[in-house]
Amino acid sequence: MFHIAIDGPGGAGKSTVAKAVAKKLDILYVDTGALYRTVGLYVKQNGADPKNADEVGALLPSLSIEVKYENGAQVVYLNGKNYGDAIRTPEMSMYASAVSAIPSVRAFLLETQKEIARHNSVIMDGRDIGTVILPEAKVKIFMTASPECRAMRRYKELVERGQNVKYEDVLAEMISRDDADSSRAIAPTKAADDAVLLDNSDLSFEENVEAVIAIVKEKVGDEING
Ligand code: C5P
Repeated sequence: MFHIAIDGPGGAGKSTVAKAVAKKLDILYVDTGALYRTVGLYVKQNGADPKNADEVGALLPSLSIEVKYENGAQVVYLNGKNYGDAIRTPEMSMYASAVSAIPSVRAFLLETQKEIARHNSVIMDGRDIGTVILPEAKVKIFMTASPECRAMRRYKELVERGQNVKYEDVLAEMISRDDADSSRAIAPTKAADDAVLLDNSDLSFEENVEAVIAIVKEKVGDEING
């Protein structure tokens, strides 16, 4: 069993690349951002302020989050219901970012993430995977790209999903979310000391996947089947 931790800011391509790598290596892909987004959705459904730690904390006892794999894809259930792409909107990105700075929310999601890795080889992406969730991971990658590049990728992804957004708004939202995520007191976006830095601004998707596979082979080559 081996674990691959991928951290980095939004739009760095972590999830699409990690998904492709998981398929190639026949291991699970765990999207931890989806968990924070799901907490954000519940906070919104209940009309609470996502920045208010007391209001958000009071909702946690009535919230159950389950992660399942259906046809190889991760599905997150909020109190038994799968809300699909409803967690993927720009509004939910901001809700996720706000609730993720609250210590009780991070504590609430900690065991769910660790538990998946306890029983499976995984490639897990997020902000604190190499530093907090899987500090013992044999492969740690900090994936990043320029803000413009990341915003353009995120913009295209949203447009493909049929969302009506402007590039300038996506860029502004991305910069403000990065600032919040990397300056917060708890589990800020940060490369682990032993992480490999991968700036993919000038890489194609395939090159990016290959770069990750090369790092994985170097670190745990004897353990992979691909
Ligand atoms: O990765 P994604 O953009 O879906 O994450 C949404 C938000 O959830 C991030 O902006 C970040 O604030 C938070 N997050 C986090 N720790 C993680 C994954 C996501 O704080 N491991």
